[in-house]
Amino acid sequence: MSETKRFDQLGLAPPLLTALDELGYTEPTAIQERAIPELLAGHDVIGQAQTGTGKTAAFGLPLLQYLDPGSQETQAIVLTPTRELCIQVTQALRAYAEHVDIEVVAVFGGAPIATQQSRLRKGAHVVVATVGRMMDLLNRRSLVLTSARYVILDEADEMLDLGFIEDVEKILRMCPSGRQTALFSATIPAPVARLAERYMYDPVTIRVTPKQLTVDAIEQAYVEVEPRNKTERLIEVLRAEEPEQAIIFCRTKIGAARLDDQLRDRGLRVKALHGDMSQGQRDGVMIQFKEHKLPLLVATDVAARGLDIEHVTHVINYDLPRNTEMYVHRIGRTGRVGRTGRAITFVTAKQRDEIPRIEHEAKIAIGEWEPPEERIEHAPRPRRREHRARKPEPKGARPGEQARDRAREAEPAAEREAEPAGGGGDANGLVKVFINRGSRSGIGEDELRWALTEGAVIPARQIGPIRVLERFSFVELPGEQAALALERLDGTKIEGKQVRVEYARD
Ligand code: AMP
Repeated sequence: MSETKRFDQLGLAPPLLTALDELGYTEPTAIQERAIPELLAGHDVIGQAQTGTGKTAAFGLPLLQYLDPGSQETQAIVLTPTRELCIQVTQALRAYAEHVDIEVVAVFGGAPIATQQSRLRKGAHVVVATVGRMMDLLNRRSLVLTSARYVILDEADEMLDLGFIEDVEKILRMCPSGRQTALFSATIPAPVARLAERYMYDPVTIRVTPKQLTVDAIEQAYVEVEPRNKTERLIEVLRAEEPEQAIIFCRTKIGAARLDDQLRDRGLRVKALHGDMSQGQRDGVMIQFKEHKLPLLVATDVAARGLDIEHVTHVINYDLPRNTEMYVHRIGRTGRVGRTGRAITFVTAKQRDEIPRIEHEAKIAIGEWEPPEERIEHAPRPRRREHRARKPEPKGARPGEQARDRAREAEPAAEREAEPAGGGGDANGLVKVFINRGSRSGIGEDELRWALTEGAVIPARQIGPIRVLERFSFVELPGEQAALALERLDGTKIEGKQVRVEYARD
């Protein structure tokens, strides 16, 4: 199996690499590794990839690399089906453009068009747009596409479902014929394939399987441990959890072999899977595990890579995974097809900050681990088949929050999905807004309240619960006020720190 390339081997320019480094992206995702060199080489690309695969950086980085900051013309457009995706893509592109002089402007429906027109007049190298609003702006001559050399169609299948394909074609016809076009879509239904055939030039198709997408249905928790008590704590967790089958991930071969010995010494039925074993030995262990003859498997990432081990009840990250992608990949092995899956991650005090980082990057919640009996006492777990899994509460959550989250779960899924783009509202009609700074940046509840009232001109009485974590914060606001918070605070500074403000994902 070939090694994953590093970002600096993909041909990206230093200012972009710096931004990635600051964002904590240590290595490219599959779609990034394959799409970035193709796009940098000037090819049209069809990327069959869903949200969560890192597709935004896959198309965003090459685009930012080739834009000319010296020209004020709109050189790139990204078309999105929904306002929520439009905002999300804009924020991601701005983060990737941190060290280049590129203006990224979002235009979407449901917000005053005049404000967007004036933003466009000031110059927008990249315009990220919902299809309807872009048509509107083109018709009003507020935007011209004669210099749009890069065109990205994001979530093309959704644009088709929403009836935008004809408008997309009209927009494509207004762009220069020598442009580079990239199309991303989770599926490629016939009309999308036809569009690609008609409007793209000899495209390269790249497909990635979104295995990781099931993770938000897995109950996730962390356990803080002292390095020297790790094995004891593991045994305690295993006794409490009584997994039917668990994979315990270690970072190194030596670590895996040692843990395997220690657990066996304590009388547990366990086998290891790591790179120092012969192929025959590994196959033997795999077969036993797959046939459910073995409850516990200690494995390294490399040994477990590509092996079809699924449907385990527990994944235990004895050693922290190297990055969020790997976390998602590891825990994706549990909780399939409506079964209960639990993922438990061990962290030392020094590594404690990694948890909010993973939570943010994977947009999931990881609460502190509690033994199952205690969990049942004060937080009855909903049955997975009927509702989405309740995510464990992050430490420090307010008591009212749990009740509200549970109230949300009682709603039928279909109704929740029909909520307006932008995170929808909870039982009180409040929308949760995410701010990428927290107590570490010197931001507390008062500072946020001040920014919301003074900066975004939101009446104090309309501000719902505020929750400040170490690295980020949440505030709940009525829908309209949430939109204002995004519009007025995103990209501004609070306590001298530039903030990103976006709708929190469920
Ligand atoms: P996307 O599929 O573009 O919506 O990205 C999903 C999430 O993965 C976002 O939160 C990104 O910030 C994050 N992400 C994208 N690329 C990487 C990477 N190479 N390493 C770590 N996180 C990433």
